Amino acid sequence: MRILVTGGAGYIGSHVIWQLLEHGHTPICFDNLTTGHADAVRCLLVEGDLCRREQILAAFAEHRPEAVIHFAARSLVSESVRDPRRYFRDNLLGALNLLDAMEAHGVRSIVFSSTAATYGVPSKVPIPEDHPQIPVNPYGDSKLCIERMLISYGRAYGLRSAILRYFNAAGAAPEQGLGERHHPETHLIPLLLEVASGARPRAQIFGRDYATADGTCIRDYIHVLDLGEAHLAALAHLAAGGESLALNLGTGTGYSVLEVLAAAREVTGAEIPAEDCPAREGDPPILVAAADRARARLGWTPTCSDLTSIIRSAWEFHRVRAERA
Ligand code: UDP
Repeated sequence: MRILVTGGAGYIGSHVIWQLLEHGHTPICFDNLTTGHADAVRCLLVEGDLCRREQILAAFAEHRPEAVIHFAARSLVSESVRDPRRYFRDNLLGALNLLDAMEAHGVRSIVFSSTAATYGVPSKVPIPEDHPQIPVNPYGDSKLCIERMLISYGRAYGLRSAILRYFNAAGAAPEQGLGERHHPETHLIPLLLEVASGARPRAQIFGRDYATADGTCIRDYIHVLDLGEAHLAALAHLAAGGESLALNLGTGTGYSVLEVLAAAREVTGAEIPAEDCPAREGDPPILVAAADRARARLGWTPTCSDLTSIIRSAWEFHRVRAERA
């Protein structure tokens, strides 16, 4: 299939493009390169901005995709708390323009990267897909609005969507030269690895008095390649005429910040000094997926998402890049 991948130069998108190619698809990457990297894109790259309606319409006219995977978005919780306008404008306007272009060109299938942040502070853990969605930050709000748009467009215009709610994407594909490269980096695992390699003096632990066993936040870390496999399965489901669905993508197992720190010390053999810091605004204490629906509906099971494998792959990517630099 010819698949338009918005945000394909980003962390998750670049891995998924590589996996699409491996499975014989023809991805077309549409990305404005504000946070992504052109050198991570292994297919045709169309440089364009989703907020510019004419640019996404032109990409559809020229490349005639049969389906869409929509990654392009602003995606940092703390930035969204500081600058909500940018989150609502870019994420919602981008989605509106994309859905208009799909409608104009008769494209009816979309895989959408949503997030566990749409649940807010869970009242039940592991979190099932039918858990109330009450986000506690503008990033989660913006993603939830898009989920609602997809459902309404489905009812009104026959759009079929696979809404994939990611828990914490992590890990890398070092053999492909792909991994996490954010500037500035804000994510826990790459930051710990920067400390391990000496690029940063110490790690920060955001919040020590959460209501969890060791007082630090608990997250469900999922390997980026496992996430990618779920996108392929979701595309196949929609291509076979399957109905719209919303699925968690996680493992069902949570790790605290201190547990991730201990695992990173183990994998790298480095001391990784860490200091206690105030909690980050907008961070819920615990996000762990009920992961069985994706298994039942897509036959998808994570295969490389144990914490050690995740950190090992990210560490390998980090070391190769550090050697080249
Ligand atoms: N975190 C931390 N120190 C850091 C970065 C993150 O303690 O330098 C915590 C953060 O509060 C959260 C978890 O690690 O509980 C994962 O954060 P990350 O930014 O990686 O992903 P998010 O959960 O925000 O998507």
